[in-house]
Amino acid sequence: MTVRVRFAPSPTGMFHVGGARSALQNWIFAKQQGGVFVLRVEDTDAARNKPEWTEGILSALDWIGIARDTYEGPYFQSAYAGEHRAAAGRLYDAGRAYYCDCTREAVQARTGSQYQGYDGFCRDRGLPPGEGRALRFRTPDEGATVVVDLIRGEPTFENKLIEDFVIARGDGSPVFLLANVVDDMTMGITHVIRAEEHLPNTPKQQLLWDALGVKPPVWAHVPVVVNEKRQKLSKRRDKVALEAYRDEGYLAAAMRNYLMLLGWAPSGDREIVPWSVIEEEFRLTEVNPSPAFFDEKKLRAFNGEYIRALPVDEFVAACQPWLTGTGTIAPPPWLPEEFDADAFAAVAPLAQTRIAVLSEIVPNVDFLFLAEPSIDEAAWAKAMKEGAADLLDAAVAGYTALESWDAESLKSTLEAVGAERGLKLGKAQAPVRVAVTGRTVGLPLFESLEVLGRERTLTRLRAARLRLV
Ligand code: GLU
Repeated sequence: MTVRVRFAPSPTGMFHVGGARSALQNWIFAKQQGGVFVLRVEDTDAARNKPEWTEGILSALDWIGIARDTYEGPYFQSAYAGEHRAAAGRLYDAGRAYYCDCTREAVQARTGSQYQGYDGFCRDRGLPPGEGRALRFRTPDEGATVVVDLIRGEPTFENKLIEDFVIARGDGSPVFLLANVVDDMTMGITHVIRAEEHLPNTPKQQLLWDALGVKPPVWAHVPVVVNEKRQKLSKRRDKVALEAYRDEGYLAAAMRNYLMLLGWAPSGDREIVPWSVIEEEFRLTEVNPSPAFFDEKKLRAFNGEYIRALPVDEFVAACQPWLTGTGTIAPPPWLPEEFDADAFAAVAPLAQTRIAVLSEIVPNVDFLFLAEPSIDEAAWAKAMKEGAADLLDAAVAGYTALESWDAESLKSTLEAVGAERGLKLGKAQAPVRVAVTGRTVGLPLFESLEVLGRERTLTRLRAARLRLV
């Protein structure tokens, strides 16, 4: 039997990191088993679906390493409406489902609670189909439904506690529970690997598989992803969109490595490992069922390590979208034609060791490309204390007279200027740095001045000096 798994996102918003995690786990499992990964877009919620979300899912999957030529599909759930309706009809014809005209209010009035499930009022009324009548599945009164789950063992659900749930609405349209099962059947899915949030649906869905006469798949419910307060990651509160991480400058390799650590770890005391090791060692059965903490700080640190491990030319290439405004990422604060590739290449190795996400390249190097530095006023106030004007005068004099414009000479000149005033180099650097780069922190100063060049450095020092008059 060929293993067939699927990833079945609903295109109702940005692509959630938890979804990306499930997609990767499915994809690796299929690869390990010599099986097939199917992509099915569950686009039946017409009110919330948008074609751009579907496009976003495809490109985010591609970015994370699930290339379009490595899977079957995408299939679109909406194309299978006929199959869904036919299955509902078969269940009705076989007496496994019945029509119901109860309103929610009527059920509540009878049960005395809005939380209690359906009370089975229409079970034996023999209502024929009709406008506004929902179709309910007749759940067994006895026995139990045992879900075989590679991560959670055999969660067992007593059938008498499962209400007669709706499988088609009053307008005849099948609901998610049924459509999802019918599609999995149609597509020959053998293993359903999906988020824990769906576990409450699983006994109902397994009853549908049984009732439709097909052997249910093996399940694996991967852990819910939570924030530092142990709350489920939510798009209203947390940064959950894979696209947001991509646009901030997380590397796909770091991201997918980190996502795979949500509830699992490779052998040894390792976390950062080549992707080939993950592909080889990952075992669904080893995934921890407890909630997985999505630790953004750790992800940042991870990303910094991945950035530092890049060959410099790859780092330079990876920074381009933020530097030249290519792609969908926010444009830099200078015009693309003001970007100077040689100047950037000269400082790139210095920046590479200092940034954790690629977008941070901009505040580190903008001073090289802006006609005037963008001055951070708080930094200015901090650096331009008493004595700053005198120090800038001396720096201008020293740098004007400098024979060789190199980092070493720039440093020793400022060291001497500082020493004459009883200042350590760190203190003497502060006004110069703010005058030239606009900030108190950044790349090593003297290498920066070397790349910026004599003329621009002196212009900026003089301009700052004038502001202090
Ligand atoms: N479309 C469902 C969702 O996005 C997935 C259901 C499933 O994986 O079975 O939550």
